[in-house]
Amino acid sequence: MLGVWIIKRDFRLLDNEALYQAVRHCEQVIPLFVFEDILLNSEYTSRFHLDAMLSALRDLQDNIRKIGGDILIKDGDIIFVLEEILKSFNISYIFAHEEIGVDETFKRDKKLRKWAKSNRIVFNEYSQTGVFRGLKNRDKWQGLWESFMAQHIVPAPDMIKVPLDYIRQNTLDIDYLKQKLIDNFDCDLLQKVSEKKAHKTLDTFLKYRGRLYQKSISSPNTAFYHGSRLSVYLAWGTISPRVVVQKTRQRLKELSDDVIFQRSLNAFLGRMYWRDHFIQRLEMEPEMEFHALNPIFENPPYKFDKEKLEAWYHGRTGFPLVDACMVCLHKTGFLNFRMRSLVTSFACHVLHLDWRDINKLLARIFLDFEPGIHISQLQMQAGVVGINVIRVYSPHKQLLDQDPKLKFVRRWLPELEEIPDEEILNNKNTGIKGYIPVICDYEKNSKVMKDYLYSLKKHYKDSETTQRVLKKHGSRRNIFHRQR
Ligand SMILES: Cc1cc2nc3c(=O)[nH]c(=O)nc-3n(C[C@H](O)[C@H](O)[C@H](O)COP(=O)(O)OP(=O)(O)OC[C@H]3O[C@@H](n4cnc5c(N)ncnc54)[C@H](O)[C@@H]3O)c2cc1C
Repeated sequence: MLGVWIIKRDFRLLDNEALYQAVRHCEQVIPLFVFEDILLNSEYTSRFHLDAMLSALRDLQDNIRKIGGDILIKDGDIIFVLEEILKSFNISYIFAHEEIGVDETFKRDKKLRKWAKSNRIVFNEYSQTGVFRGLKNRDKWQGLWESFMAQHIVPAPDMIKVPLDYIRQNTLDIDYLKQKLIDNFDCDLLQKVSEKKAHKTLDTFLKYRGRLYQKSISSPNTAFYHGSRLSVYLAWGTISPRVVVQKTRQRLKELSDDVIFQRSLNAFLGRMYWRDHFIQRLEMEPEMEFHALNPIFENPPYKFDKEKLEAWYHGRTGFPLVDACMVCLHKTGFLNFRMRSLVTSFACHVLHLDWRDINKLLARIFLDFEPGIHISQLQMQAGVVGINVIRVYSPHKQLLDQDPKLKFVRRWLPELEEIPDEEILNNKNTGIKGYIPVICDYEKNSKVMKDYLYSLKKHYKDSETTQRVLKKHGSRRNIFHRQR
């Protein structure tokens, strides 16, 4: 009996239910990864993501070879690839993880299920995180999440039987793909994605980096070190959220005397919980990729302006912290939460750009692009959810609070080197002598959007629509905190 394990964003051996079940149920397994057309042609996909996938795939290939197997790597259309396999084998099962993705992958999955059914192949899908299909509201979600995270870690298989000759004759070479897809693009500053790196990153975070997590994650000067930096590994699945949660809880038990470290790790666990909370949102409301979660906020007074969009995207707005953040993103693929909120707020509240117009651009430069978190957070930071506090971030205030010594802005904008500190620190969003002129009037523009969003929120607070959003998507956070 032969099964195909379709590798998606789950490039790992440990705690991989789809792989585990494939090995358990089938005499032979074909681990299959396809660089699909829908992925390569998607406006969400960038060289950053392809680099992450290629690096994770190479690592997984090494690990699978160590246990006697190999990976069939292909490109093109996944159904075409499966049809090709069917010419040589009788496929009894397909194993895969549920992907909570964008519309393109959602449609692909539907097609795949239909194809499997018509070929009488059993298609088994597993959840790899605390997100559940078919939920109508959040009433039971915390309990489900807790039980998922408490389940036993699924062991890594110690051997796998694959049709080696077939795979070796038909697989594509990773170096060839690297050259073809990203022209050997290599950026030293991107996190390298692998299972080993994921565990090492978690270990150093739990041993020492995470102690100052709580007080360090808002500043771009400290968050890069004291933040867990696990987002990339979680997004590409080189570590499972359950392993992260269980190891953190284990570490918490050892830290009985260190209150600072304990507080930090509890705050971190809160983020792991938020992670699934937001992914669950997209799972329950896939239309939110295109529409505001709360229809009341569907059409704020946005105005598409190509020049402004480009200036923002390339870090040329004249607001140093915003510009430094965007340059940093283009170079490293990473930014901490507060700075991601700032650049989003700036685009939507100050430049009046539609969150839908910045969605894919940002996704492309986030190495950790995770659709459920990304789209939910974009909408939240744009203030179109209607059940959260609306925050409009002032770039000047954030600069004073998070980078008062100008370390971050000067690192990414060397042209600020010659400009005196006072000139940069004292200007209140009005432009710095010797730097690019500001692209717009911060006070005036942000007031227009603030007035609009605040008044709408106030007016429709108790409306049926807002209450429906709250009931379906609102967090029952207090219950979670009591449970912990
Ligand atoms: C507009 C916007 C877009 C974002 N897009 C993404 C994205 O595509 N992928 C992504 O992983 N994160 C996204 N985030 C959330 C957050 O900024 C990153 O998860 C975090 O900065 C990653 O750093 P870390 O791994 O050191 O996080 P830590 O602070 O160490 O947190 C641990 C993990 O919890 C999750 N997490 C942290 N903060 C949040 C949050 N606010 N909401 C949901 N989950 C969270 C992440 O998986 C993270 O790796 C976005 C935030 C904003 C404001």
